[in-house]
Amino acid sequence: MTIDQFNFAGKKAFVRVDFNVPLDENFNITDDTRMRAALPTLKKILADGGSIIIGSHLGRPKGPTDKFSLKHILNHLSDLLDIEVQFANDCMGEEAAIKAAALQPGEVLLLENLRFYAEEEGKPRGLAEDATDEEKAAAKKAIKESQKEFTKKLASYADCYVNDAFGTAHRAHASTALIAKYFDQDHKMFGYLMEKEVKAVDKVLNDIQRPFTAIMGGSKVSSKIEIIENLLNKVDNLIIAGGMTYTFTKALGGKIGVSICEDDKLELALDLIEKAKEKGVNLVLAVDAKVADSFSNDANAKFCPVNEIPDGWEGLDIGPETEKIFADVIKKSKTILWNGPTGVFEFENFTHGSRTVGEAIVEATKNGAFSLVGGGDSVACVNKFGLADGVSYVSTGGGALLEAIEGKVLPGIAAINE
Ligand code: AMP
Repeated sequence: MTIDQFNFAGKKAFVRVDFNVPLDENFNITDDTRMRAALPTLKKILADGGSIIIGSHLGRPKGPTDKFSLKHILNHLSDLLDIEVQFANDCMGEEAAIKAAALQPGEVLLLENLRFYAEEEGKPRGLAEDATDEEKAAAKKAIKESQKEFTKKLASYADCYVNDAFGTAHRAHASTALIAKYFDQDHKMFGYLMEKEVKAVDKVLNDIQRPFTAIMGGSKVSSKIEIIENLLNKVDNLIIAGGMTYTFTKALGGKIGVSICEDDKLELALDLIEKAKEKGVNLVLAVDAKVADSFSNDANAKFCPVNEIPDGWEGLDIGPETEKIFADVIKKSKTILWNGPTGVFEFENFTHGSRTVGEAIVEATKNGAFSLVGGGDSVACVNKFGLADGVSYVSTGGGALLEAIEGKVLPGIAAINE
């Protein structure tokens, strides 16, 4: 079933969204992108004459706490939908059930943070540090049992289930995957956002126009090994950028000063270089760096070859020669995936490399390439530089996007398709 085929008139829909938005210390939303991203789905249901029960998580609470209450986003959601959204102080309990049952067409009920219950994630909480293996196993079994009741209760609020939370699709949680079991094929579907994400991933997995270039940045190799290894089977060019650079440089015998480096991953870096060669992938590494004498925006800075960084200095961005090499490769590409900045883009003086990469992607896109940008920090980059409109698709998923591109089946997607 697709959301466009479904008529929500007179129906109650449980919609799982990802309203895990950043809040400042006064609980003001500092970036409402994720809320806006779910609006087309919510509006379609209301326009049909349906009603909505919204489920989401916010942060990583270990139990109920004001800090992670979804009531902080209630007013903004009401403004965005232009109706007064109702709120249930607890996603379980009598209040939620009564309010859900009383919903009239065109009305919306926001449930309190699903992760206030350990059952949402299905992981035991509060286990003593010295718990024995038996105690751990018993706690795990108990939570899996109570998770069934939790999931069933959420499902009982609605006639149909819509998953529009791509950001959590890689988690087999109660509201993102397990709940789908309680609805038949005609009553469960992706929301519009999820449909778009799935389509974008499909394009870089199954409908590749070549050359295909991936730009992998960010801080650590260790968090990206699997995706890098997997990409070596798919791409023509793999650009390594960001903090990962220096692990590769050191592995190749270069001097990296005090640049970020994972010493236990040097072998792995060499192995990846070797694998790229075997597979005929053009692995593109930085040749120069913008180095600083401290980890700060105001540090003294200069350019130098990436393998000749002076003692006490660290690479915080790529240098001009590298920018040129990266941009040339990107501009000749027909499919582009960008994950992770080329440097510490949070510091104004070290944004240039990331901006150049972003601009090259926009130019390639103008010339007909399909470009997918994903992973929290690269999204922040394209937004910061005002380039979001110039790329083909900006994903709302970080981990979910990477896992999907690794070729893993995401539980949140499988649950709808099953
Ligand atoms: P990730 O979450 O792995 O995508 O990493 C993103 C983070 O990597 C950003 O916060 C960047 O500031 C950081 N980063 C990128 N390049 C460097 C670098 N050369 N040194 C230290 N941190 C970096």
